[in-house]
Amino acid sequence: MSATLREESLLTLDVEELAPAQLLRSAEISTTENELKTLLERGYSGVHEKSSPFHSFLEHSMLFIFPFLLTATVYVSLARLYHLEVLWSVLLAIPLGILAGDFVTGLVHWFADTYFTENTPIIGRSLVKPFRLHHIYPRDICTHNLVEIAGNSCILAVPVLSICLYLMWLLPESGWLAFKVTWLSVLAITTVATNQFHKWAHQEGPSRLVRWLQRLRLVLNASHHQKHHMAPFNLHYCITNGWLNPLLNRIKFFRRMEKFLRLFGMKPASARDNQGH
Ligand SMILES: [Zn+2]
Ligand SMILES: [Zn+2]
Repeated sequence: MSATLREESLLTLDVEELAPAQLLRSAEISTTENELKTLLERGYSGVHEKSSPFHSFLEHSMLFIFPFLLTATVYVSLARLYHLEVLWSVLLAIPLGILAGDFVTGLVHWFADTYFTENTPIIGRSLVKPFRLHHIYPRDICTHNLVEIAGNSCILAVPVLSICLYLMWLLPESGWLAFKVTWLSVLAITTVATNQFHKWAHQEGPSRLVRWLQRLRLVLNASHHQKHHMAPFNLHYCITNGWLNPLLNRIKFFRRMEKFLRLFGMKPASARDNQGH
């Protein structure tokens, strides 16, 4: 990645704080200068940041619980739809759930790229910083394991699925609720899988299966996503499969959202704002 591109995508991060030599010292790694240079050129920082012990516990436990809860929720909702003889509605819930997943991940990504800083309480470290560091070191995501990739999404998905199961128990005869829960389950799966799809889009030499899925646009296509990492750095925010990116670009959805939020005094914290985008 070029220096200019890095500066553009640096947004509000402190350059001093991210100087490679300092990163090296803080991580106490013994990579030589040449190796580090090669790593940086390939988009890696050479540093592996770790979650706090409590956050790590949440990531591990929610990732463990998620598949069981998801299976229970999908089973109950499908059984309900079958019992009410509207199982066909699953064919509608699946694409709508995938589209919603693409939209939600795009919205969260745009928000983290555009507003606040890495020093903002609560969301600064956990949400804003990872997205902005990703612009500087786009391949760091390829060094993350399953827990780091999917743990955070599971922390959000587990309470949502728990509420779904509770509502299904409260309203056993509602077909509309069963449809919405099926849709939400698909949304939960796509959201949890999104970081893996994003990781694949940055991977050097992905497997044939992954390349096939990318070609079919069932998961985020690498060259499609690359447009987000190029000037003017304000397009293609959706990172599940990017289905919605052409539409959202065409209707200038995120620029309109930024205009709308200005009415409430919210100004983009990024360098993009100063360039008049
Ligand atoms: Zn971004
Ligand atoms: Zn990316």
